[in-house]
This record gives sequence, C-alpha cells and structure tokens, in this order.
Amino acid sequence: MMSARPSPTNEPPGRREQLAPAAVAAALVALWLIAAAPAYAWGPSAHRLVNRWAVDTLPPEIRAFFQANREFLVEHANDPDAAMKKDKHERELHYIYLDKYGMFPYLKLPHSFDKAVEQYGSGRIHRDGMLPWQVGKISLRLTEAFKAQNWEEVKLDAALLGHYVADAHDALHTTQNYDGQLTGQTGLADRFEIRLVDKFSSFFMFARRDATKIADPTEHAFEMVLESNTWADHIILADRQALEGLPDYNEDYYDRFYSQVGSIVVRELSGAANDTGSYWYTAWLNAGRPELPH
Ligand SMILES: [Zn+2]
Repeated sequence: MMSARPSPTNEPPGRREQLAPAAVAAALVALWLIAAAPAYAWGPSAHRLVNRWAVDTLPPEIRAFFQANREFLVEHANDPDAAMKKDKHERELHYIYLDKYGMFPYLKLPHSFDKAVEQYGSGRIHRDGMLPWQVGKISLRLTEAFKAQNWEEVKLDAALLGHYVADAHDALHTTQNYDGQLTGQTGLADRFEIRLVDKFSSFFMFARRDATKIADPTEHAFEMVLESNTWADHIILADRQALEGLPDYNEDYYDRFYSQVGSIVVRELSGAANDTGSYWYTAWLNAGRPELPH
C-alpha cells in the first residue's frame, strides 16, 4: 500500500473535536507517518486485477492449476506491500530510480547485479531501487518451487512475482519524482495509482496476449521498467494540467486526468498481466515442465 494521504474532504466533519487530546496527538503522529511514507505501488485494486487477468494468458498445460488458485493469487497480490510494514528492506524492492543513472535509456547502469554493485557500491544500488533484480530473483524462486513440486510455495511466489511485475509497469516506480514531490505535485502516486484506478477500473478492458517464454527474466524486467519509464513525464505533466483552474483535486480533475492517462494505465496493467503470465509460464518451462496437481 502506498500513502493514503488524508485530505480535508475525506475527513468526517467534527471527528477531531470528539477525540481526547492524547488521541488527537496519536492520530496526528499516525497521519504524519502515513503522509511521510513514500509511495511504492499501484494500489491494491490494480495488483489484484493484474494477477486475476494473468491467469487468462496461460496455455492449457498449466492453466487449470492457476485457474483453480486464482482467488489465492488475487488475495496475495498485495502481500509485498504489507511486508513493507515489517521489513525496512522491502521497500527498495518495489522501485528503481532510473533517472539517477543519467539519461534514457540509462546505459550507465549495468543490468548485471554484480556489475552494478561493482560500479556503484551496494548501498547506492539498494537505495536507488532493486526492482528489476527482484523480478529476476522471485522468478528463480518460483522455478525452484516448481522443481521441488512445492505447490504452496509455487502459489505464493507466483502471487508475489505478479506484484513486482506490475510495479515494473508503473512509470512512477521508475523515477525519483515518484510522488510528484519534486515538482510541487505531492500526492501524485495516490491520485494515479489508487484513486484513478478505483474510479475508472470498471471501464478497463484487458488486452490479452498468450503467455510466451521469456529468455532472461532480469533482462526482461529491465525492458519493462524502461518502457514504463517513457510515460513518467507525460503522467506528471498531465497531473499538473488537469488541476489548472480547479480549486482542488475534485471530480473534474479526475475526469481530465483520466482522459490524458487512462489509456496508459490500461495498457500498462494489461502489459503487466501479460508479462506476469509469461513469467509464470517461463518458470514452469525452466523447471522442466512438472506435472501440476489437479
Ligand atoms: Zn509494490
């Protein structure tokens, strides 16, 4: 989950007045903590949608197993964001600040993790985000789980992998300006990743493709973040323009914002679902096509 930023319009009238001073202080601290937490993900609805759709991309050999476990995959689509509350190292696995590595296509950054660490140091690489390598790592874990025929682990790793693949399809996960905070548009992540999706997701159509084998899971993850990164400036600009002449981020703002970026959201969520299916399929192929339980 990313920051559900408290907005004045969402607050029930008179709520604060009814609270004791200690409760008010505690509430303010909690609000501050929430507000201070940086954005890290599509919202829960987007992640659930991606894992749900991904099942439909699979070939017959593995489709029945995933279909039978579809609700599990959907229910666990947001586990990695929940893990952030317990593990301070989790957050860095959900993004990569590509724009810290020069200009698109960021050729200064080696895609090999060892080479990247050698060049920039481990601290810097972790701080500026691990997302593509995390996709590679969980792909390998899923492959091992398939090999071991550990079906519980397969289900969980598949759900988690879908989460990180979806993050890789979120332009705001590829830039330092992930919440619009560097351009005076703080709260952008909440507007783009959560509210926009929640308002318009009933219109989203899945542009389905058949799952295909991915040659190199980490390299493909770099392709995903590089592609989504190309939309970052457009999204940030559209957010600013949509607010022009309006008193706040009201319904008109969301209608305007959606007309500018809605097609990107649908394309990226479809891409995330198609890629998630391909990652699941690839892990199964690389594990030697084990027979799945029915
Ligand atoms: Zn995430």
